[in-house]
Amino acid sequence: MNSTEKCKVSLPANEDCITYKSQFVGLDDKPHDTKCLLCDTKFVLPDNEKDFLTHLFKEHRLVIGDVWNIASLKSYVHYWGVKLKEEPLVKYCTTLLMNCTPDGKPSENEKYFLLSDCISEDKVLRDEIHKAKLEWVLSEQARERTDTGFKRGCIFCRMEFSGLRITYVKHLAQKHNLYLGKPDNLVFIDEFLDKIQTTIENLICIFCEKLFKDRTALKEHMRKKLHKRINPTNTEYDKFYVNNYLEPGKSWKHRQSNCNENNEVEDQNSENEDEDTWSDWNDEGIGILCLFCSYSDKHFHQVLIHMKTEHNFDFKIASKDLTFYQKVKVVNYVRRQIHLQTCVFCETKVENILQHMKEENHFKIPPQKTWDQPVYYFPMSENESFLYNLDTSSTSDEESDIENPTELVYEKPKE
Ligand SMILES: [Zn+2]
Ligand SMILES: [Zn+2]
Ligand SMILES: [Zn+2]
Ligand SMILES: [Zn+2]
Ligand SMILES: [Zn+2]
Repeated sequence: MNSTEKCKVSLPANEDCITYKSQFVGLDDKPHDTKCLLCDTKFVLPDNEKDFLTHLFKEHRLVIGDVWNIASLKSYVHYWGVKLKEEPLVKYCTTLLMNCTPDGKPSENEKYFLLSDCISEDKVLRDEIHKAKLEWVLSEQARERTDTGFKRGCIFCRMEFSGLRITYVKHLAQKHNLYLGKPDNLVFIDEFLDKIQTTIENLICIFCEKLFKDRTALKEHMRKKLHKRINPTNTEYDKFYVNNYLEPGKSWKHRQSNCNENNEVEDQNSENEDEDTWSDWNDEGIGILCLFCSYSDKHFHQVLIHMKTEHNFDFKIASKDLTFYQKVKVVNYVRRQIHLQTCVFCETKVENILQHMKEENHFKIPPQKTWDQPVYYFPMSENESFLYNLDTSSTSDEESDIENPTELVYEKPKE
């Protein structure tokens, strides 16, 4: 009845008023046994994410699109696990027919599945999980800010602190020149400090991550080299900065070329412009698109000539040792990188990606491990006509036992 009274009852320490309750299971990053969405096998997520994704592909022939972009894989898997108990995969997945088994043995018309945000239910789910995660992170931050139960000794001078965390963070900055970031942007501070402390106790520099023989040598190094800040390329630190949770496309798991804090404003426009161009590209009858720019032609050989003269990229030569399915993966990989404005070769994200690739001579196929992943069996757009023109008569040995790798057949789920 009376809401003020209700809140009063749920004190002490404001905790129950702040604690965020979500409809989603497992928004936090704590390792937790998570059941596969299609069987009873359990995986510790997020720690064993790679094993889990391998299991999905090998056992269920399922690929999850843009996994790095899901704010909480635990929540996502739980949601689809419940849903897929009742209904078949084909209802929600893009299917692909291939003439081989997951371990590469030839076999006719094998079905593979892609679960991605190309269906609206998945897109909404991803958005909702992202929003819920952000709200949860902000609620954790709010709790940390007001919590006075914090106790900790300084990593450097052994001064003891109790009370607010901010006092400690300020002490590190003022007395020891260790600047962790704007206090407003920090979250999970205890874990952050634990990580820094352990690194230093292990005699490793927090910036360049080199190992030293003793504490004095490390201290001297960090002071002299001005290495009193965290390594911005170490993505394990991303989770401690709130701004990394703001945009769904800018995941703390995604590689960031800049320092954690300095990219709050950049590339906000580019993403949208990109989206427009992309939907134009999906229009039918537009012909075969260049892998890099918006050039198109209805003749495949013209597109190949264009790529050779304009981008100094000879697709035929670059892919001559690849099997048919490897070529498919390379094409889908390149499209995805260009779409994300990320260099195909060095994976740097820059504003004018084609200019960067030209200047750096990066119109090249990167090492195999970068693109040879099941997720790249699936194209980004439905009408990926480049794929349908790939030469199926590959000369590679690996494929010689696959009789006739016919064309690719993709089928989108009906909504
Ligand atoms: Zn399973
Ligand atoms: Zn101190
Ligand atoms: Zn260093
Ligand atoms: Zn082009
Ligand atoms: Zn590059």
